[in-house]
Amino acid sequence: MAKTGRITLDAVDVVDVTRRIPVTKDLPARMTVDGKPLDPVAGMVILLNKPLGMTCSHKDHGPLVYDILPERWKRRDPAISTIGRLDKQTSGLLLLTDDGALLHRIISPKRHVRKTYRALLARPLDGTEGNLFASGCLTLRGESTRLAPAELTVISEREALLSVTEGRYHQVRRMFAAVGNHVEELKRERVGGLSLPDGMAPGQWKLLTNEDIASIF
Ligand code: URA
Repeated sequence: MAKTGRITLDAVDVVDVTRRIPVTKDLPARMTVDGKPLDPVAGMVILLNKPLGMTCSHKDHGPLVYDILPERWKRRDPAISTIGRLDKQTSGLLLLTDDGALLHRIISPKRHVRKTYRALLARPLDGTEGNLFASGCLTLRGESTRLAPAELTVISEREALLSVTEGRYHQVRRMFAAVGNHVEELKRERVGGLSLPDGMAPGQWKLLTNEDIASIF
């Protein structure tokens, strides 16, 4: 017999430990042991508000985004990886998963999942950037294929939202560099239909529901 209060299912004490409980994907969220939820089963997606100064790589020295998650999750199989990367000096919405097929669906340029970034710029926008980004006629330095059309929303002289459907290396910073500007601060606010939740502080994270995951596409 379990001691009263140690194991709960749907916030109700499970007193009879011989009771058979079907293992479903949502079970870990519904069950607690000593007040703590069970670890999620394979197929989880995590939304993290990435703080500045942390790296998305598994190998780098220095603070890694994986250090924010429970230590034991580093030993999970399949391993948890970031869905695309944010630069060390970019903050905001970062997704992580142990589901390789889902990861590829989200990052594949063929899926056109929009990623929206808020950029603070060193110099005022001159009003020509939006048309150029939207044209699909911009090629980044050192590359030979044109960028897919991207959408610029001007917030103020030096602040803008930029939505892109690709994930090229340092893409947003290089796009603004291509028009003679410089990104001073960069934060990702949206991936597909998912936004960074209001009030989620840097370093906080949550598990996504199936409904949240569906809203990405
Ligand atoms: N584009 C960038 O330049 N940096 C990021 O971190 C993401 C997109």
